Amino acid sequence: MVLGLLDGRLDAPPTSAYLMTYRKGKCAANCGFCPQARGSNSRADMLSRVSWPVFPTELVLDGLENCFRSGQMKRVCIQALNYPKVFTDLLALIHAIRKQTGIPTSVSCQPLDCENIRRLAQAGAERIGISLDAATEEIFGRIKGVSVGGPCSWERQVKLLNEAVGVFGEGRVSTHLIVGLGETEREMVNIIQRCFDMGVLPALFAFTPISGTPLEHAAQPSVQKYRRVQVARHLIVHEVAGFEDMRFDQNGCLSDFGVDKEILSRIIRSGEPFLTSGCPNCNRPYYNERPSGPIYNYPRELTEKELSEVWMQLDLKELQPSKVNDTWFVC
Ligand code: SF4
Repeated sequence: MVLGLLDGRLDAPPTSAYLMTYRKGKCAANCGFCPQARGSNSRADMLSRVSWPVFPTELVLDGLENCFRSGQMKRVCIQALNYPKVFTDLLALIHAIRKQTGIPTSVSCQPLDCENIRRLAQAGAERIGISLDAATEEIFGRIKGVSVGGPCSWERQVKLLNEAVGVFGEGRVSTHLIVGLGETEREMVNIIQRCFDMGVLPALFAFTPISGTPLEHAAQPSVQKYRRVQVARHLIVHEVAGFEDMRFDQNGCLSDFGVDKEILSRIIRSGEPFLTSGCPNCNRPYYNERPSGPIYNYPRELTEKELSEVWMQLDLKELQPSKVNDTWFVC
């Protein structure tokens, strides 16, 4: 819609254009949550809960050029399925986008090796994302690794992430982490810290059950859990507190963020931890949620009503409303 390819009304326009490489057939990988997985019976035009209509590349490039010039679009994010010629397609697309538009480009893909990564950087990609998705090696294996006939292993993904940091530089490599695949908060916060220590920026997603996938009947994570992980991620990537400073209860739930209460209050009041995380200018409206809610990742600044809901979801009893901001806090 922002590129002018479809008519419609948007209540939160995307500030990045999300493209997906297309071919007839599905991805060669078999991630249990993904409608593009080779074993899923989902619609072929879905990724998460979003549909991806097909357009000729020329029309997309013209739209991108106009929207980058007018300031409506600030980034392109290309997500690649796994298929034999995917890198040829990716290199051609990155090159064409760079030549015609100059818009910063992120690529989310599954490189085979460091040479693949180098070639993406040489073609003009500004950033790369290599997904871990799972918080632990065990969950990775069960959801997207060898147990389900997937081509990747945890060890290999971590190696590729390290190599990508060597090519693109610290902070220019991202990984997606999906909250709600069976991990504890402790495990999720631990991997967020590990990624950050490697120079990799972790982006959070909420597990979203999609019809036709093996996980179609699994539940989304509670908003309360997601909010706690969002706060922990924010503290880690802004170097306010680390995993070692935080405390967890016997169920692995966050019980203490390891930071002064006044500082924590200020950070929560900013609303920043609850915005979509990822590359600069990525807001991914309603990727994990219906616009009617509950909203996991806000695609724009939170309203005061939304902020007071977030406080209640976080249930931080020790932060007294009067200490927070008694003009708007609703208990
Ligand atoms: S590699 Fe990506 S597109 Fe392919 S099945 Fe896994 S999540 Fe889906």
